[in-house]
Amino acid sequence: MFDLVKELTELPGPTGLEDRVQDWIADRWSRFAETRRTRVNNVLAHVGGSGPRLALVAHADEICLMVKSISDEGFLHIWPYYADQRGKPPRWFTPVNQPALIMTSSATIPGVFATASGHVVGGRNSQQEEVGWNDWFIDVGARSRAEVASLGIGPGARAIWNPETRRIRQNIVGKAMDDRAALAIATAAGERLAARDDLPFELWLAATVQEENGLLGASSLADEMTFDLAIALDVGLTGDIPGPDKRDFPACLGAGPIVVYQDATCHYSVRLSDRLVATARERGIPVQQAVFQNYGSDGAALIRRGVATALLTYPTRYTHSPIETVQESDLAQAVDLLCAFIEAGPERKEEPR
Ligand SMILES: [Zn+2]
Repeated sequence: MFDLVKELTELPGPTGLEDRVQDWIADRWSRFAETRRTRVNNVLAHVGGSGPRLALVAHADEICLMVKSISDEGFLHIWPYYADQRGKPPRWFTPVNQPALIMTSSATIPGVFATASGHVVGGRNSQQEEVGWNDWFIDVGARSRAEVASLGIGPGARAIWNPETRRIRQNIVGKAMDDRAALAIATAAGERLAARDDLPFELWLAATVQEENGLLGASSLADEMTFDLAIALDVGLTGDIPGPDKRDFPACLGAGPIVVYQDATCHYSVRLSDRLVATARERGIPVQQAVFQNYGSDGAALIRRGVATALLTYPTRYTHSPIETVQESDLAQAVDLLCAFIEAGPERKEEPR
């Protein structure tokens, strides 16, 4: 599982430019399933089986920053991937001093997210308390706007932070655990279930685009294929670090996948969620249950289009940062739970197609 997670998380796939990830996914999934690209660049794979049509859904995109202008000296000025209502970065959004990768449709260019250091703006010169977006910039090693232009970089280019994915004792740490670890889970489950010839669901995998930008890929899934039910896969919030209140975030790393009943955007199917929990208990797979604030998933877009959907997550610390942290056992248990759930088959109420 670590190798799969490392390979997927280190692919660059900022929102709106997910091609590298989707190419990898289409290639890998086509080894065990019939795979196609949709018009919005989602990847769909038909794993097999017969019965109600079930989709496992994970998103390919990762959060990013957008280049908005280039200075005379060749620095890239940036804005965030989201619609900023505050006019400044929140204190938990931390690209600065990270390796950067700038992406255009034709190239990837390395750089660093930078800010002027205390030696040049600190001490008695420091009047400014708050950090603004324009205090941050990207240095690609160029000396002029023309040199940056020659690299193919202009407004609209995307930049991601670009650390390696590595093990730190029990932790796997890196970027884009949101949501590539979910694609790793879907891939592992798909591979295992494709080997079965008696699947009691018609099983599909979906890798969606532009989740971080308002669930845009998932919104069109229901037009591309009619599903009876779905399980969205994404990062799960934990309270097992200094800061959050455990009354709000009771889940932790190492205690199994988390079934999420409700978040800021929707209430998930109670029946499907309860069955995931019951399946885990029957099979001796650790499982956690939660409700999340300040959080959303592709599931909301599917529910809006009439697909009964549950949200299965894996505990993740430091979400939307360059050090998103997961534990391998939670990911493996999510695969086990999905396979057990699918092998157990549908409830009678779910009419087969
Ligand atoms: Zn996500």
